[in-house]
Amino acid sequence: MYKNTKPENQFSIAVASGKGGTGKTFVSVNLFHALEQTGLNIHLVDCDAEAPNDKMFFEARLSKQEEIFQQVPVINLQACTFCGRCYEYCHYNAIFFVPELKKISVLYDFCHGCGACTYACRDGAITERKDLLGEVNTYTLSKNSALFESRIKVGVHSSVPVLKAAIKAAREAEIILMDAPPGTSCPFIQTVAGADYVVLVTEPTPFGLSDLKQSVDTLASIGTPCGVVVNKAGLGDREVYAYLEEKQIPLLMDIPFDKGLAALYSGGKIPAREDPLWKEGFIELYRIIKEQYGNSSRQR
Ligand code: SF4
Ligand code: SF4
Repeated sequence: MYKNTKPENQFSIAVASGKGGTGKTFVSVNLFHALEQTGLNIHLVDCDAEAPNDKMFFEARLSKQEEIFQQVPVINLQACTFCGRCYEYCHYNAIFFVPELKKISVLYDFCHGCGACTYACRDGAITERKDLLGEVNTYTLSKNSALFESRIKVGVHSSVPVLKAAIKAAREAEIILMDAPPGTSCPFIQTVAGADYVVLVTEPTPFGLSDLKQSVDTLASIGTPCGVVVNKAGLGDREVYAYLEEKQIPLLMDIPFDKGLAALYSGGKIPAREDPLWKEGFIELYRIIKEQYGNSSRQR
């Protein structure tokens, strides 16, 4: 079993990209494997709760499964006086309320389970029930490493509570590596907000650049330092590199476009496990990340 004690100098990295399919998982699993092989105590968190796929790269046994629930309100129409207090207290527009028609109901897709409406109701018309949102699966890989997979139930609107639970479950390690969900919406923000450093993975194409700019702007508003890995380098154009230079964002690594590499990866293999040069390459990536993080800390 991996150790369950919190090391003093924990370092957390989120690997993210503005859209899916840019190589975010490729970087995450290779970096994880390379560092795990050096004996570091590391936890990988698959935060892409809608479509987690990190597990397919590892032979691992399920050591724990935790179901994640949310308390949601249930309105008793017989007890409701249609005063509207719950509607006013709800910041998420999750209560449908038309007093003239004596209509009120909870819009569960928008409900965040905050409990404000239950607190607001003075007529005892609101009770709560537990809704299953998904699960956190823990896979033990070695005495130093484990994978924490967030997975939401089909039909659940927000993955945030489940991925938060996965990050919390993984917190006792020297290095926390989070494979972030694609995009720049709430699940992305929730993941990167807890990171010391964010690795943005992009491709050297106009689409890649456009998504990269969005991610960089979002991270700037949060204040988390970031660097960039360019995947499929050699394809496309040089605009991404010009942008990095202009914004003084560190280029952490170039991963060349290579059919052999793509074939390995699509076959569920990790190049850092198959080839010592790739393993060294990802260990070097970690060294650069730490160096850049140190530089950014000195500038703040
Ligand atoms: S629990 Fe919170 S989000 Fe859900 S309906 Fe009540 S006030 Fe709105
Ligand atoms: S606060 Fe209670 S009584 Fe008032 S509208 Fe909401 S459920 Fe009905």
